[in-house]
Amino acid sequence: MKLPQLDYAAPKTVSDAVDLLAEHQDEASVLAGGQSLIPLLALRLAHPAVLIDINGIAELSGVSAADGWVAIGAMTRDYVAEESRAVAESVPLLAAALPLIGHEAIRSRGTVGGSLAHADPAAELPAVARALDAEFVVRGRSGERVVPAAEWFEGYLTTSRRPEELLVQVRFPAAAPGTGISFQEVARRHGDFAIVGLAASLTLSGGAISDARLAFAGISDVPVRAADAENLLIGEAPSAELFDAAARRATGDIGPPADLHGSPDYRRKVAAALVRRGLRAAADNADERRATG
Ligand SMILES: Cc1cc2nc3c(=O)[nH]c(=O)nc-3n(C[C@H](O)[C@H](O)[C@H](O)COP(=O)(O)OP(=O)(O)OC[C@H]3O[C@@H](n4cnc5c(N)ncnc54)[C@H](O)[C@@H]3O)c2cc1C
Repeated sequence: MKLPQLDYAAPKTVSDAVDLLAEHQDEASVLAGGQSLIPLLALRLAHPAVLIDINGIAELSGVSAADGWVAIGAMTRDYVAEESRAVAESVPLLAAALPLIGHEAIRSRGTVGGSLAHADPAAELPAVARALDAEFVVRGRSGERVVPAAEWFEGYLTTSRRPEELLVQVRFPAAAPGTGISFQEVARRHGDFAIVGLAASLTLSGGAISDARLAFAGISDVPVRAADAENLLIGEAPSAELFDAAARRATGDIGPPADLHGSPDYRRKVAAALVRRGLRAAADNADERRATG
């Protein structure tokens, strides 16, 4: 299908992009990797009057590590983050999730910022950002604002970014020593969006869990943090019984959607299985990282 008629701008700097957003507001769409936006345009599900193509803004790409955080420019392609040593060493949960996004062709164009701005609730990176309490840096004409992940995802494909703001960077905290991670998902085929996904991270100190993070994809219109289950885990030693109890706690009051991929009950059962599996794998990963680190 052909794209609709629209105006096109290709700014070379963030400040020019922000000026264009201020001018066109809701009438504009930012074009990053285009892997979600171009199909939406072709199917006439998005109707911007202007496309603001940010592919030529060099300052929006790159990965850097400082002060216990890894900062990823919004236009950084998924495959670049996937191959980044800083991501692999300091944000292993993100490193585990990136290869699960679609296929190589998608990840060679798709961007970290695009996935997080698009905010598909079944996508991997929103669950990782929510689990790790990532920070979103947005810039408008009046300056920058930092939005915590808990306030970023507002609903289906909806974030707290204002129409005149550009997402410029996402920051992930570096994993503490003793941390093990796992990203689990059930999808119909390799490369598909998850029916249910789970980002899991456990930090072990002296044989007990000192930090636990669990965030689901695919069970609501936003990624969902399982805070009650996390609280149950903290202070305890890892065991199959504990992980069973955490799975019950994490899924007892969720109300996942029904669609052609599965009923709410099916999704609830998958979510519980992923919690058990994800916690076991995260605990094993913590042991492996300690043994090899
Ligand atoms: C066949 C196929 C399979 C896929 N499978 C998966 C999958 O398994 N998991 C998964 O997570 N994703 C999957 N995707 C989606 C893919 O990850 C997209 O790349 C991603 O959702 C959007 O990133 P993008 O850079 O392509 O953004 P675009 O498509 O260019 O933009 C997406 C949205 O974000 C906005 N936007 C982008 N960047 C910014 C910014 N810096 N500031 C403000 N707004 C911005 C755009 O305006 C648009 O509304 C798949 C896509 C395809 C085509």
